[in-house]
Amino acid sequence: MTRSTFGRPLEIAIVGAGLLGRLLAWRLLRQGHRVSLFEAGSFDQPRSAAHTAAAMISPLSEVVSSEPLVYHLGMASLALWPQWLSELNSDLPSPVQYGNSGSIVVAHAQDAAELQQFKYDLQTRLQHDDNSRWLDQRELADYEPDLAHFPQALYLPGEAHVDNRHLLGCLLNQIGKLGGHCVDNTPVIFTNGELDLLGNFNYVVDCRGMGSKENHPGLRGVRGEVMWVETGEVRLQHAVRLMHPRYKLYVVPKPQQRFIIGATEIESEDRSPISLQSTLELASALYTINPALAEARVIETDTNLRPAYADNLPRITVNGSCISINGLYRHGYLLAPVMVDHLAQFLDQGSRGHFWNNLVHHHSEADRASVAPISR
Ligand SMILES: Cc1cc2nc3c(=O)[nH]c(=O)nc-3n(C[C@H](O)[C@H](O)[C@H](O)COP(=O)(O)OP(=O)(O)OC[C@H]3O[C@@H](n4cnc5c(N)ncnc54)[C@H](O)[C@@H]3O)c2cc1C
Repeated sequence: MTRSTFGRPLEIAIVGAGLLGRLLAWRLLRQGHRVSLFEAGSFDQPRSAAHTAAAMISPLSEVVSSEPLVYHLGMASLALWPQWLSELNSDLPSPVQYGNSGSIVVAHAQDAAELQQFKYDLQTRLQHDDNSRWLDQRELADYEPDLAHFPQALYLPGEAHVDNRHLLGCLLNQIGKLGGHCVDNTPVIFTNGELDLLGNFNYVVDCRGMGSKENHPGLRGVRGEVMWVETGEVRLQHAVRLMHPRYKLYVVPKPQQRFIIGATEIESEDRSPISLQSTLELASALYTINPALAEARVIETDTNLRPAYADNLPRITVNGSCISINGLYRHGYLLAPVMVDHLAQFLDQGSRGHFWNNLVHHHSEADRASVAPISR
């Protein structure tokens, strides 16, 4: 068992068992610490954004509409995912599927300008790092036979997608096996910014996503709606994005001939079910990707909120021994490993990784000097 620089395993409470909470708990347990994970909802009926997400890990696709920091963090995460999944999968009977053979961007002939613009934006942002490349119709047919009717496509090598629902379940199992204490149906309340539980732990890490809004006035939710379909008629290996002047769509393959289609992005904190308009737009855009998708069965629709700060950048906020990690917006799977890795290294060894100064916000100058666990 490893020890922290403080010479002993730490007692750490993690509040919120979504993506960040589960990944962090798993990493800290592997480092030899004692972890208690508290979740407001039920483990059997997850309501986290992590459960709703398509789980693409797509730094190139995102760079055209995000700050450069998201790209750099995303590339670092892209390197961590295979390593972490191989550690996780070595303990599992049924491995978590991870596709990292890149993604494909297409547009219908009448929208070709959208695709050209996307390539131009990529080149402008990434310059020499832009390794995207055009596929002609024949090459596209080799990559994805069911997209062969598109005249061309843009290929984004290295981009990935993960079977997130299986991942979330496996993480919870492993946390239990490593001795983590997991408690669901337990909403944890912070009073005046202090966590009632604090006295029992060296550190408390707030991973409540939108659940921490009242303690983070700058945090907002961005509504996203998705649709799940099932069909044996169309086979896609890569995540596919459709460029369109009004609604952009992605299709991400999941196990058992299923695909997740998404996603709307609406500045609203309304969590009610998908609207008729969004249903029609997603379904008709999907149908144009391949008419055979018309016979796909709609097996689920889902709505959730992406937790975001005004700058749409992730943030670790340090307030003494209470640490919050939030604001992953639509980049949770893209950014979580690098965020969690930085925080876990910091808690374990006090080390501040490469991106630490870009990520950390201190509650006050006094906190900057006193980031230390409570002695118990
Ligand atoms: C439609 C949609 C599609 C997305 N697609 C992608 C994608 O393709 N790629 C990507 O990188 N990201 C994607 N995301 C974003 C990603 O899902 C989020 O960024 C990520 O889930 C945020 O992780 P989190 O752990 O902060 O929050 P969450 O995953 O929401 O977890 C927060 C957890 O805290 C719990 N909680 C809340 N309040 C309390 C309380 N008081 N006490 C205890 N527990 C509490 C909640 O129940 C929840 O389980 C998508 C999001 C949406 C909505």
